[in-house]
Formats: sequence, structure tokens, C-alpha cells
Amino acid sequence: MRIMAVFAHPDDEIGCAGTLAKHAARGDEIMLVWTTLGELASQFGDTSHEEVTRIRREHGAWVAGKIGAQYYFFDMGDSRMTGHRDEALQLAKLYATFRPNAVITWSDDHPHPDHRMTAKIAFDAITLARIPKIVNEEGGGEPMPPAPDLSGDDAVESGEDVRRLEAWRDPIRFYQYFAPASPYPEVFVDIEDTLETAAAIASYYRDFYKWQWTDELFREGRAGAGRLAGVKYAERFNLRASHLRARDYLD
Ligand SMILES: [Zn+2]
Repeated sequence: MRIMAVFAHPDDEIGCAGTLAKHAARGDEIMLVWTTLGELASQFGDTSHEEVTRIRREHGAWVAGKIGAQYYFFDMGDSRMTGHRDEALQLAKLYATFRPNAVITWSDDHPHPDHRMTAKIAFDAITLARIPKIVNEEGGGEPMPPAPDLSGDDAVESGEDVRRLEAWRDPIRFYQYFAPASPYPEVFVDIEDTLETAAAIASYYRDFYKWQWTDELFREGRAGAGRLAGVKYAERFNLRASHLRARDYLD
């Protein structure tokens, strides 16, 4: 299974870190994606964009290493996201490259506009990634990272256009951070096995941002979700699905 976590700012992924680490430990392929560098964090002061990029890549590499994930940064501009098609197209190209079976992102109703726009483009990109002419359209900015090794694929012949992307048409299960007003069904993931990894990632950002949000509060949040779902610690999502194939039976 391949899972892509799409968020606006480094630290947004804390809410699903236990789930991602658990899947990685099972051997699933994980990619963490940030649509911005979160360069407006007050810690950066007047730091140059180049230096912010360097620091954020360090954060991304550390978190990805902790989880056992690949990572990728877009630079759509902290608090400047619009949710327009060009942003969704950039992400659709990454979907066509990584070919996720599931995407995890923000809820639709979070106050921060980047969070809402990230959820919007993450959903829009599912449909754009299904259309061959669109994923190979000019524009959408940046070169994509190397494709994952999808076993069974033939090696590229010399002279073939390696930049041409295949549309990604498999169903993508779309998980969003839990929001009380969401109309979509809730899903809890038992993260008892990976709570420490998730707590370490929260602490890593706590040290950088100097948050007042303590380790105890972090653990209590996961325990609260766990109590609702009959386990010790859990992370909580809403599940939205699209383009589903028929199944043989209910499960
Ligand atoms: Zn954020």
C-alpha cells in the first residue's frame, strides 16, 4: 500500500504521525508532502527564503526519517494558498508519480485557509491525476521526485520520454483529520505501537516552536480518541471516498 500525507506546513502532520509510522513499520510506502515551507512562523524572523528552505528540509528529513517515509516540499507560499487549479495540478503530478492508495490531509473546515486549501487541492488532484492529458500538461511548476520502485514495471528504454506520466486511476481513499461537523464516517486507527514515535515528532516541533502544548496533553489527546474507540491510544479521521470500484460483498 502507498499512503501520501498532504499538509500545508511542517508540523501539520503530527495528527497522523502514529498512523504513518505504523503503516511504514508494516512495509507500506509513505510520502509526506508539504505544500508550503511554513516560512511565516515567527521563529524565522527575517531569515532568507533560502535559509528557511534549508531548515524546513531538515525538519522534513528528520520527521520522514523517524516515520520511515519519503518527503517532498512544494513552495506554494505560507498563508498564500488559493486552492486554484495550478496548485491541484502540481499535486496531481505527484499523485501520478507516487500513485497513492490513500491520502491523509486536513479537514474542510479548519480556520487556517492554507489547511482548507490543502484539503481542497488534495481532493481535486485525485480527479486531475486520472486524466492523461492533464497530468502531462505543461505547467504545474516543479520537476517531480524520482518515481518509487513499483515492482513489475519494465525498465525505461533509452530514448523514451521519461518525463511522461501515466494517469493514476486506482481509487484513492481520502482520510481527513476528524472534524465534528464532517458529514463523512469516522475512522480510528489504533496507534499504541507507535505512540512514542508520534510523541517524539510532537516534541521535535515543540522544541522548535517553543509550544506550551505539553507531552502530557499530546498523550491525553490520543488517549481520549482511544477511549472512544476501545483502544489505549488512537488517531481519528473522517473517510471520504471517490471513484470506487464495485466490491463483491460488504465488509
Ligand atoms: Zn498548518
